[in-house]
Amino acid sequence: MKAVVTVSIPRDLLDTILAGAKQLYPRESFLFLRGKKSKGVISVSDLIVAPFAVHGRGFASFSPHMLPIDFSVVGTVHSHPSGNIKPSHVDLNYSFGRILMIVGYPFADEQCVAVYSSDGEKLTLQITTNKENGVR
Ligand SMILES: [Zn+2]
Repeated sequence: MKAVVTVSIPRDLLDTILAGAKQLYPRESFLFLRGKKSKGVISVSDLIVAPFAVHGRGFASFSPHMLPIDFSVVGTVHSHPSGNIKPSHVDLNYSFGRILMIVGYPFADEQCVAVYSSDGEKLTLQITTNKENGVR
């Protein structure tokens, strides 16, 4: 799992995540990330709204065992209304998939975004055009 070094995401998917986080602020937003991994790069291509996610101030929770088995889920993204984009202990203990993406207030651009491996290692975020990422 240490081989994962870069996460790539299309610009407009990132914009969608940031817009959603802005909309839910001051509550946390929570989404699953869908994509694929090849040659050490995880390419995010879709978002999945977790219908059972519990949104509340300062905490977003979900039950991974309630998820349909879907190996295209590469990780999750949630917002930090505090603006701190470091993962909390809770985030790392409850991470799902390979990557943990955090977007922080004010959700303006990629400066407000950080991505980590499931063990808390910071990963490189690469923003692509839709064409490069193969989004349908
Ligand atoms: Zn968090």
